[in-house]
Amino acid sequence: ALNNSTLKAELGRSTWKLLHTIMARFPEKPTENEKEALRSYVYLFSRLYPCGECATEFQKILEKYPPQVSSREAASQWMCAIHNIVNKRLKKEQFDCGQIADKYKCGCDDEKNSTTT
Ligand code: FAD
Repeated sequence: ALNNSTLKAELGRSTWKLLHTIMARFPEKPTENEKEALRSYVYLFSRLYPCGECATEFQKILEKYPPQVSSREAASQWMCAIHNIVNKRLKKEQFDCGQIADKYKCGCDDEKNSTTT
């Protein structure tokens, strides 16, 4: 059986994948409505994430580093930096955010600039 920390890590990996993929697919030139949708999503996520300790810590990080929603690049780099802050707190390796553009593909039909179609 999986112990609690294994489950927490599994949830974390799935969640980061979703979060980074959402940022990688966010419009390059978002409308005000799209910007507000992303901002709301991040704040609601921070209240609803099922690991309570993680959510509390994440809310503290958001107070210092509010969501950057002006473009796909801004959102992707912001999420990468936030994940690195969590990595640091958990004593994990820092990720090179210059590599992020290629890493999070969704296999969506309308994916642009895909090198893997
Ligand atoms: P993960 O950190 O899950 O990363 C998965 C993969 O993403 C990595 O293998 C790497 O390929 C890639 N990656 C790594 N860093 C980055 C980056 N900066 N940008 C883009 N991609 C990257 N766990 C706790 O025990 N305590 C907590 O307080 C806690 N808070 C969390 C808060 C949030 C919002 C989330 C989503 C998760 C949290 N977790 C927490 C879980 C934790 O972050 C990890 O997901 C879990 O420990 C599994 O770690 P991992 O080593 O498999 O890699």
